Amino acid sequence: MKLLEYEAKEIFAKYGIPVPQSGGVITDVQQLPEALKKAGSGPWVLKAQVLAGGRGKAGGVKIAKTEAEAQTIAQAMVGMKMVTHQTHGKALVVREVLVNKCSDIKREIYISVAMDRKGERPIIIASAEGGVAIEELAKDKPSAILKVPIDPVRGIEPFQARNLAFKLGIPAKEVGSFGRFVTALAKVFLELDASLVEVNPLIITPEEKLIALDGKIVTDDNALFRQKALAERPDHESTDLELEAKKVGINYIGLDGDIGCMVNGAGLAMATMDTVALAGGMPANFLDVGGGATADQVTAAFKIILTDPKVKAVLINIFGGIMKCDVIAEGVLTAVQKVKLKVPLIVRLEGTNVERGRELLKKSGLKLTAADSLWDAAQKAVKAAKEAK
Ligand code: GDP
Ligand code: MG
Repeated sequence: MKLLEYEAKEIFAKYGIPVPQSGGVITDVQQLPEALKKAGSGPWVLKAQVLAGGRGKAGGVKIAKTEAEAQTIAQAMVGMKMVTHQTHGKALVVREVLVNKCSDIKREIYISVAMDRKGERPIIIASAEGGVAIEELAKDKPSAILKVPIDPVRGIEPFQARNLAFKLGIPAKEVGSFGRFVTALAKVFLELDASLVEVNPLIITPEEKLIALDGKIVTDDNALFRQKALAERPDHESTDLELEAKKVGINYIGLDGDIGCMVNGAGLAMATMDTVALAGGMPANFLDVGGGATADQVTAAFKIILTDPKVKAVLINIFGGIMKCDVIAEGVLTAVQKVKLKVPLIVRLEGTNVERGRELLKKSGLKLTAADSLWDAAQKAVKAAKEAK
């Protein structure tokens, strides 16, 4: 799971990591006056809550000196679409804006805890040159990046924290508070089963106080069964269709193309997407109904595919192994009864009960194109989608 900045900061605060005074998040400009009041006296900083860094450069982090200024900024920021260097050209809609008291900055430091797969343990990554994109720094000046492997059970040792503080040039009288800062950061990482806990920047104020000015937490989905509190948080990353699919136990990821794909098995789904691309088309989704999908799940999958307005043709590619072809056929028929099928349907069935499956589809009178190989199916789907445009 990826947490938004304000969620990360709430967790930081619980672990004793200093964060700016917060007025909370607003989803509507009307909530602004109260948020400003809660964040204390101005100036304030308004921050777009999206799952991407580089907001500063994209207009997603703005300082307001007066309430009127904050009002203008909030008006523009709530609901705005933002493209940063981390969004891969896609625009993210800003639904929430965090209101914080503005901090004075003397220095910006980069610090994070990540999983070092090679070292088989968590590692602290830090740099005295914070605030900037760490990826660029790693490329241009790798010597400016410090790495401290930590014990996965004990966390960071006091001597490691002190050593790091000296290398980062933390003021002598703040070495103790820096030690508490990184120790708590490592604790967040370990206790939340995180794969990344990042503070960029950790600032030193003119009064030499340390504050986590930004926060990012990514946790391991495989540990959600024991992270009840995390599991209950809203999933910001998934689209409505992806959430719907998750609810019924289907692996679905929306993509940019126009050919909806329903496949059983992740490997076959990948191969299908590749073949569609090879045939000159673009898949609208990755969808794996799984090995033991029921007719209900197939119906749900079909509905999800057809809800996507981009879909101009649907390609069903099923290999009946554990999953039987007749079950898939029944699912398709049920789904088509419930959702009006307005786009061409191309079906390739192979494997267990394939004859019965094909028979069912044929008897139904449903208008579909049968294909006898994956390559044939992909070509037919691409052609159908092109003609539908
Ligand atoms: P990001 O660009 O998405 O990583 O967003 P950040 O929260 O890291 O903010 C980007 C930059 O905006 C920071 O590196 C700071 O230079 C600046 N900034 C953010 N909050 C404050 C603040 O409270 N006071 C000041 N002076 N600058 C801030
Ligand atoms: Mg940042």
